[in-house]
Amino acid sequence: MTAATPPASAPSAPPSRPEPPRDADAGRASHFIRQAVDADLETGQYAHRSWAGRPGPAALQAGAPPDPAPIRTRFPPEPNGYLHIGHAKSICLNFGLALDYAGRCHMRFDDTNPVKEDQEYVDGILDTVRWLGFEWDTGGENDLFFASDYFGWFYEIAEHLVRAGHAYVDSQPADEMRARRGTLTEPGTDSPFRGRSAEESLRLLRAMRAGSHAEGTHVLRAKIDMASPNVTMRDPVLYRIRFAHHHRTGDAWCIYPMYDFAHPLSDALENVTHSLCTLEFEDHRPLYDWLLERAAEGGFFQRPLPRQIEFARLNMTYTVTSKRKLQELVQSGAVDGWDDPRMPTIVALRRRGYTPESIRLFAERIGVSKAHQWVDPSVLEQALRDDLDAKAARAFAVLDPLRLELVNFPETLEEPCTAPVHPHHPDRGLRHFPLTRELWIEREDFQAQPPKGFFRLFPGNRVRLKHGFVIECTGFEADADGRVTKVLANYLPDSKSGTPGADGYKVKGNIHWVSARHGVPAEVRMYERLFLEAHPDAGGRDYRESINPQAKRIVRAILEPGLANAGADARFQFERHGYFVADRTDHRPEVPVFNLSVTLKDSWGARK
Ligand code: ATP
Ligand code: MG
Repeated sequence: MTAATPPASAPSAPPSRPEPPRDADAGRASHFIRQAVDADLETGQYAHRSWAGRPGPAALQAGAPPDPAPIRTRFPPEPNGYLHIGHAKSICLNFGLALDYAGRCHMRFDDTNPVKEDQEYVDGILDTVRWLGFEWDTGGENDLFFASDYFGWFYEIAEHLVRAGHAYVDSQPADEMRARRGTLTEPGTDSPFRGRSAEESLRLLRAMRAGSHAEGTHVLRAKIDMASPNVTMRDPVLYRIRFAHHHRTGDAWCIYPMYDFAHPLSDALENVTHSLCTLEFEDHRPLYDWLLERAAEGGFFQRPLPRQIEFARLNMTYTVTSKRKLQELVQSGAVDGWDDPRMPTIVALRRRGYTPESIRLFAERIGVSKAHQWVDPSVLEQALRDDLDAKAARAFAVLDPLRLELVNFPETLEEPCTAPVHPHHPDRGLRHFPLTRELWIEREDFQAQPPKGFFRLFPGNRVRLKHGFVIECTGFEADADGRVTKVLANYLPDSKSGTPGADGYKVKGNIHWVSARHGVPAEVRMYERLFLEAHPDAGGRDYRESINPQAKRIVRAILEPGLANAGADARFQFERHGYFVADRTDHRPEVPVFNLSVTLKDSWGARK
């Protein structure tokens, strides 16, 4: 893993524009954040800040050359789980803006809460952002940062706030503090410790930091306004005591900063220009600005200060996107892990067969606005179809195999057949597969007593075996329960596709097939939405009650012989079914395992 902070001597070479993920059909839509950035670049106000090549307070940046990046954004996850599709929106927005404006996007871990965080998640998150096509280590500047590296600076700023009379140590028990906080309609009440002298608070803060006080006995609070109509501004807590081991700083600290304190300071230390966050933080913006102003007054930051802009988070129906709930799904065994293809995590989407391009296309299509957003999974699925249609090689796969015997076909004959790898790209060549007397066809392609309008196989009817011969059904065999075990047919030797005789036959049905002697048996995992309800966690409901028991179904399929050597992650369109990927964890060429990525058409609506 690369170091969090480049060495002090890191040259501030102008970062070259990283190789951007170029998505041909993803037109860059303008939106209110782009407009805000344009307006800020117009005034040139951010152009005068210096950048020493690494984060730090004004004292460290002073005298350094002007920041070569016109804008700096950041993606700041907490390493307490794997990223989900909602995070993809934020990643594409932040990294995408930096690319478009030749700026920088910082990959920052907001790792200020020691209890829930873990190195496993740090590694998983970095891998995911890179897989999505974004990079932070380019042009001689490595913008991988950890808020925990700023603990020393945070603490200095805290002492400054105390000395300047902007913060105090409160020693009320937690329940009294809560009771005095007021409500949305009633103002709060001042803490009896609010009038403490700066000296007294400073002494206590230092003692807290030194480990002389137990958890819960004291907190550091900003001194703002207990009567503010904005509850966030009622003397928010800045630091609390936690005797907890941190995954990076170990036991160096026993006081930890609150998110609302650490976040704006991290942005300012990193020269961030535009701090994009979700709408829930709109009420926190006055605190964001207040803290940065107070710290800038103390000489800690250059101006102009970073600016927070809120956008609507992505919510998707038929799933949940809270890390806590995703964690519960994993821990309860409702799914097989964070990368179970039923999950909305990006590692799961990847395993399911999603491409980085399809996820970026999705992010572009859903756009960025202030309006609350519920997106149907069909939008994500369509982005995948649109990406894979042009890319995925075609193949035959029989997912619910039923035997077909061509009774007039010679026992040992192997009739070579061909089909294009991709119907619109003849340059990608041909697939080769033999036709033999015993074949597998899809069970649903035969009906002993066909309903009206059924034009596939039934006794007396003719269909074309795609890329092969026309056949005529002569009968079938069934077991004692009446279940069909074998279909019998004659083939018409002069009807082979691509030969002059083929045109003489007009049939309505065209079915796919695989030679029984040459087909490749495979495990195919069929996936559906994880939840049956559009809003599984609406109104505090237990989302686990609407888990779709059919969301994963394993079938024994027979694949076209050419798939015998498919490597993990190889993607195909199984004709008439959908897009499938060789599972990146379980697939072996000898024991093939494929996942359904997406069906050819949206079938959810029809199913219900
Ligand atoms: P959770 O509540 O599930 O833990 P979070 O928002 O706390 O999610 P973070 O790791 O703090 O997760 O998020 C990192 C970044 O991703 C934040 O800037 C956040 O605004 C953004 N983000 C998280 N969820 C979404 C979402 N559903 N849509 C858009 N952006 C999101
Ligand atoms: Mg969070």
